[in-house]
Amino acid sequence: MNIKVMKFGGTSVAHASNINKVIDIILDVNNKSDKIVIVVSALSGITDDLIMLANLASKGDLKYKIIFQAICGRHDQVIKELIDLKNKKRVVQEINEKYDELEKITANIFSAGELSLSALDAVMSFGERLSSYIIGEAIESRGIACEFVDSREIIKTDDNFGGASVDLEKSHKLISDHFKNGTLYIMGGFIGSTKDGQTTTLSRGGSDYTASLVGAALDAAVIEIWTDVDGIMTEDPKKMKNALLIPEISYEKAEEMAYNGAKVIHPKTIRPAVLKNIPIYVKNTFNPRGSGTKISNR
Ligand code: ASP
Ligand code: MG
Repeated sequence: MNIKVMKFGGTSVAHASNINKVIDIILDVNNKSDKIVIVVSALSGITDDLIMLANLASKGDLKYKIIFQAICGRHDQVIKELIDLKNKKRVVQEINEKYDELEKITANIFSAGELSLSALDAVMSFGERLSSYIIGEAIESRGIACEFVDSREIIKTDDNFGGASVDLEKSHKLISDHFKNGTLYIMGGFIGSTKDGQTTTLSRGGSDYTASLVGAALDAAVIEIWTDVDGIMTEDPKKMKNALLIPEISYEKAEEMAYNGAKVIHPKTIRPAVLKNIPIYVKNTFNPRGSGTKISNR
């Protein structure tokens, strides 16, 4: 079976028009694989906004309500632009329930006057929970069935909030059981849950790691990390104009670069792929025909 895991993050998922580019890429490959799992990050900037929301609330600063409205507004705009009329009511209802849940958690933080790491994880998780649900519905609005998966049901972790360790054995089993029959799935990266069902996060930028975990559990043919740069570069392209694309790189070298602060992929992404010898491609949503960077055992 030809299984592909595709992760989209950064400005690829900033707003409706970029999300449409992401969906173009998905639709383009949809018939060429037996099974595709899409992993998405939060809409870009939303995780930072959520952290600010939780911090303001914990300090008793009512400005948290403005941030809350802004977060909802960003998602509402995507729904407005990408969800077709016949589904809008249902999607808005579903999203409003999620907003209510976030509002309650935030109000509790406000009353408590302190911010525990577990409450912060609960707040941060809404970035991926909202984006994955909305993007999944946006894919359906373009005529393709796409099954939404709550990542917290399949990514099981310890209770080290803010940077939880994944229980690989448990998660692998849940992942391979969960993705049995369908052909196109979407889930949020970055989040998981403890054995008692408390929401956890895998550390900032952790959606890449989610994609790699899922790819390894499913014995995927390939893991693709779609972002807003052409691939892994010799220098940070945002700082250095003459940065060059690295077309191919070994797992070891890519991991070393990631641990040394190259921002393109989360350092934990490499290990699961190495164990199953799955190539990782880093690709640019805004230049999809570009070759990207191939990370493999070569
Ligand atoms: N949204 C999370 C973050 O900003 C995870 C990710 O983007 O991979 O850290
Ligand atoms: Mg992010």
